[in-house]
Amino acid sequence: MLRRVFGFLLLALLLAAGPCPALCAEVLPPAQPGLPPEAALDLAVLRASYPGAVQGLEQNAAGCLELVLTSGQRLAYDDGLPRDARQALDTPDLRTMLAQVYPLGPVDEASAHPQPSFDPGRVRMQSFFEALYGHTESQVRGNCATVRFDNHGVAFTSRFGAAQALARVWQRLAPLLPEHPEWLRVLRPLGGTLAWRRIAGTKRLSMHSFGLAIDLNPHLPYWRSEPHPETVASQRQAFPPEILAAFEAEGFIWGGKWASFDLMHFEYRPELVLKARMLNGQSQ
Ligand SMILES: [Zn+2]
Repeated sequence: MLRRVFGFLLLALLLAAGPCPALCAEVLPPAQPGLPPEAALDLAVLRASYPGAVQGLEQNAAGCLELVLTSGQRLAYDDGLPRDARQALDTPDLRTMLAQVYPLGPVDEASAHPQPSFDPGRVRMQSFFEALYGHTESQVRGNCATVRFDNHGVAFTSRFGAAQALARVWQRLAPLLPEHPEWLRVLRPLGGTLAWRRIAGTKRLSMHSFGLAIDLNPHLPYWRSEPHPETVASQRQAFPPEILAAFEAEGFIWGGKWASFDLMHFEYRPELVLKARMLNGQSQ
């Protein structure tokens, strides 16, 4: 899906840059001139990742950019407010949510040792995900499909290609599992997917509430409970690279790359993966 989305996005950017054949103009959303480059990129990856949900960016009466959803709902893109790390987690605008670029690819020295507060994807505007996936547990459940993952059928949202993406992750891994018995310590027991709950120690909904996150073995290191955080860099490096690559290829980010580490946790965030690819100059 991401390869297709990238092609779409590239065409959209070409459309923004100059004349385009009539066919493109019929298929692609109109480019929005006059935006700062960061806002233009953020808008492009949101539109490509959540088709049909995003209308555009508009200035409000105070001169601040807001994201306008096709439902008419308006969300702060850049409210101009200063935020420390805690405030960013609690009350982000969308620009802050997308500001840290997720480090795609195998764990290297930098991603094994993230800087304090480097948690790309952990800052989330809850109202944005409520609008995309459902405002209540019953709404979210109504959008979920059952996906085969290892020996389980798990509930995952079918909105915006998420369930299909998780199914493809397992399709990538399943044929290789017999050759990789070392994966089992990561895969089993499976922690689970859909759960309407708050993040531990916060009032914020977990992304599991929206059916777009999966926990592998819950005994993997988690920053709030890990008794030996000094071992986490080596545990990041020991995580099976094939499993990480399969998830990232399908639009998931890994909590193992966060300073506030959560090595069991993968989350469907195609906009962050696409933005990282764009900034890395990758075409797929
Ligand atoms: Zn999780």
